Amino acid sequence: MKIQVITLFPEMFEGVFNASMLWKAQKDTDVELATVNLRDFGLGPRKTVDDAPYGGGDGMLLMIEPLMNAVNAAKEADPKAKVLLMTPRGDTWRQSVAKQYADAGNGLIIICGRYEGYDERITSVVDQQISIGNYVLTGGEIPAMAVVDSVVRLLPGVLGGETSAEVESFVEDDETVEAPQYTRPAEYNGMEVPEVLLSGNHAEIAQWRAKNAKR
Ligand code: SAM
Repeated sequence: MKIQVITLFPEMFEGVFNASMLWKAQKDTDVELATVNLRDFGLGPRKTVDDAPYGGGDGMLLMIEPLMNAVNAAKEADPKAKVLLMTPRGDTWRQSVAKQYADAGNGLIIICGRYEGYDERITSVVDQQISIGNYVLTGGEIPAMAVVDSVVRLLPGVLGGETSAEVESFVEDDETVEAPQYTRPAEYNGMEVPEVLLSGNHAEIAQWRAKNAKR
């Protein structure tokens, strides 16, 4: 799966794409992570990408032309890719949605907004608008990182055997979370691990975990 992120700040992705699971996914599987620098599609000698909103108002918007040209370039590299736009106006990102994209296996093109946002006409080439929650971030880069990470870790061969994506929060549904977990020591500063987890009784442990797999 190829994932291309259209952003004015490609350097923000260097650490995230080159560490831990995302690094391993690129090394061991067919996952390809890339950034597309929106500045390269800027207009005129100053490579302008933003302009003031019609009708007035604070701040600047990403202009339609550079955005559309960047999407077209990304589409040329991966014609079947789905286009996601990061925006507070979007559908809330959830585990079930991440799973749908991972299972579908199409490439993704992720558009990061900046400043006051983007010219709305870019939505004409967007397959889904995504919000990561009811708060406003400075740009779409952090939402894009959350989307990339949550999809890639669900792709075949990415997680090691010890960290199975089958037994974790939100697998059953978008509300069910994993039960609390503990490791050694069994007692720390008077705080004890629930006795059932030390019992070796797998049936009782499974029962305890099922009961505690709720918020
Ligand atoms: N003026 C916009 C509004 O009031 O909805 C906020 C713009 S925000 C400062 C700049 C960009 O950050 C947005 O265009 C979007 O790409 C991204 N962004 C901010 N919060 C987000 C969220 N909760 N989910 C997804 N993207 C977000």
